[in-house]
Amino acid sequence: METPRKIAKPSFDEPLCSHCGLCMGNAWPEEESLRSCVFNTGWLGRHEERLFGRRRNPADEDELAFGICRSRFNARMKTPVEGAQWGGIITSIAVRALETGLVEGVVTLHGTMLHPKAALAKTRSEVLEGRGNKPVLSPTLMALHAAWRAGLKKLLVIGAPCHVHALRDFHASSPLLREMELHVVGIPCTDNLESAHLRWVLGHISKSPDTITSMEFMQDYRVHIKHTGKKIEKVPFFSLPADVQRPGVFSSSCMSCFDYANGLADITVGYFGAPFSKDWKTQWVIVRTEKGDRLFDLVREGIDTSPEEKGGNAVPSVEASMEATIRAVLDPESLAARKKLPKAAGNVLCLISALRGPKGIEFARYSIHIHALRNYCFVRRHTPEKFDTLVPEHVRELAKRYRIDRIFDSPEATEG
Ligand SMILES: Cc1cc2nc3c(=O)[nH]c(=O)nc-3n(C[C@H](O)[C@H](O)[C@H](O)COP(=O)(O)OP(=O)(O)OC[C@H]3O[C@@H](n4cnc5c(N)ncnc54)[C@H](O)[C@@H]3O)c2cc1C
Repeated sequence: METPRKIAKPSFDEPLCSHCGLCMGNAWPEEESLRSCVFNTGWLGRHEERLFGRRRNPADEDELAFGICRSRFNARMKTPVEGAQWGGIITSIAVRALETGLVEGVVTLHGTMLHPKAALAKTRSEVLEGRGNKPVLSPTLMALHAAWRAGLKKLLVIGAPCHVHALRDFHASSPLLREMELHVVGIPCTDNLESAHLRWVLGHISKSPDTITSMEFMQDYRVHIKHTGKKIEKVPFFSLPADVQRPGVFSSSCMSCFDYANGLADITVGYFGAPFSKDWKTQWVIVRTEKGDRLFDLVREGIDTSPEEKGGNAVPSVEASMEATIRAVLDPESLAARKKLPKAAGNVLCLISALRGPKGIEFARYSIHIHALRNYCFVRRHTPEKFDTLVPEHVRELAKRYRIDRIFDSPEATEG
């Protein structure tokens, strides 16, 4: 894989776009889709009200971070799906939904991380082909066009938060999908990239970028990079090149996202609220709706579930790291001065953070808070005209609690 030497500076003149695919198909006109673009309609707030009959309550700490739900728990597949990203809960749900006739097709993602391809899966093997992450912006919703053209009336959609927002809005507002019943499985997602930028990042963080098959930012404060041949390379967060945090590396659309935990899915299946599992098999499930319960019931027998665990406290960890995180967005030049920590020292810091830092759902809360605060500052600085649309009320409340204005209005940040 050839690694581009430079990465393009972000242009804040171009419209924000996560390439979700809704306006990239040809079954209906582009303008119809653009009305449901999350960068035009905003995150959560009124979308939650439409789905749940109310907005999330910021006084409820768990709801503030993880969204409205019926239950949350840890889960391990008794027999993991070979080749799945974690245990394969998502793939198993999709296979069962298809095989039991709950749905007639599954909107999923085929291809590779450098060439993701939207797919409408109508057989078990087509669903299985989608297993595993492609850590790149993906046009999944192009397959919604194929489902509509095929006249499907019962559909399962697997998507990241940007897919699910556009899908929910389009389903509710366009007469085209009125006849279609949707079930939605969400993945948590943050800091995704365009494929050209992905090459650049892989080339800068790995010793062997050509053999990478996937990577995860893990609860032990290291990026775990899986290579062909099952080798796993571990890079401490603290030893990542500072340039990787420069605005424009992660997509501006992801830096303008406020729904890490996929709050509009019927069920969200991730890992970061579960205890750290070396074998990548313990997952974290958030059931949000009655349909989400029905989806989990399809696979319940094959899964060991356990209550969530928690340790430590997210808030002091957020307070300790927010200034550096936010400064990187407000004043990218300050990154140049930041020295990359040698790997051995980075590993020691990871060990201390993992021992002393937040665990289980406190780790998830830490991660959600810090990303929400960073993105709040990103939008306020780089696309202030979009602030009122994009930033949900509960995130503004969070920013007040952490007194973000202190950092935002500090002379160093203003100069940047
Ligand atoms: C870019 C990205 C970032 C993520 N970040 C986090 C995180 O920070 N914390 C966390 O807990 N979980 C995160 N996840 C989700 C997590 O890595 C697993 O995908 C999830 O837990 C499901 O595991 P599984 O074994 O059940 O999935 P599988 O059974 O392997 O199924 C994975 C499903 O995800 C779909 N998929 C793969 N890549 C994409 C994509 N780019 N966009 C949309 N759909 C896709 C596939 O089509 C497949 O249906 C992220 C996923 C992605 C793609």
